[in-house]
Amino acid sequence: MKATRHGEHLVQLSRLGVSNAYLVREDDGLTLVDTSLTGSAKGILAAARDQGAPIRRIAITHAHADHTGSLDALHDAVPDAEVLVGERDARFLAGDRSLDPGEPQGRIFGPFYERVRTRPTRTLRPGDRAGSLEAIAAPGHTPGQLAFLDNRDGTLLCGDAYLALGGVFVTTQPVARFPFPALLGTWHKPTAHETALRLRALDPTRLATGHGRVVDAPGPAMDAALAAAPRS
Ligand SMILES: [Zn+2]
Repeated sequence: MKATRHGEHLVQLSRLGVSNAYLVREDDGLTLVDTSLTGSAKGILAAARDQGAPIRRIAITHAHADHTGSLDALHDAVPDAEVLVGERDARFLAGDRSLDPGEPQGRIFGPFYERVRTRPTRTLRPGDRAGSLEAIAAPGHTPGQLAFLDNRDGTLLCGDAYLALGGVFVTTQPVARFPFPALLGTWHKPTAHETALRLRALDPTRLATGHGRVVDAPGPAMDAALAAAPRS
C-alpha cells in the first residue's frame, strides 16, 4: 500500500497502482474513505499508524467490492470506528441487489457487489457529514454512490464518478487500460453523466478518484473528460 500525501488533510493509499483508499486528517484522528480490495487491511492500518492517529470513522463511496473488500477486516481491527455508508448502497452491502420500481433498471453486475458482514453504524444521505466531509449525491456508477467534499480545502473524493488512470475520464467511458468500470460496473450511464456534470460544477480544487492519480486543479481535465464522454 503506497501512501502519498496531497495537501494538508489527504493521504492517498494506492494498491497495485490502481485501486485507491484515502485517509483524511481530522482534529480527532482519521477518516478512512473506502477500504480497497480484500487483503488491504494490514496496509491501511500500517499507513494509519504512520500518520500517528487513530481511524475514527470509515466512510464508503459505493458498494463495489474493490471499495468494500477490506471493510470487514478493518471493522474487526478498529471496532469502535463509525461505519458510514450511503443509505441506498447499504442495501447492496447487506446482500440485497434489487432495484426499486422507480429507479432506472440499469445493470447490476453481480460479481462487483459483495455482501459484507459489517453493518453501518450510520447511513448517510446527501448533505450529511462524516467529520469534515460533506456527502454529495453521486449516483450512476451505482444507484447510491456518494462523493465526499472536504469543505476545508475543496478536495472532492468522487468514488468512481471519475477515473484518473492516465488521463481523467468519466466512468461511462470504456478506457482501454481500465475498461471494466464502464463496460460492466456502471449501473446507469445517463445518471452517471449527470452526476459528472454536477460534480464539475462544485469546482473542486483537487480530485481524488477511486482509481488512478490524485489531480490538483482538475477543472480543465474534468471538462475534457465530459466533452469526450458518451451520454448513453
Ligand atoms: Zn466502482
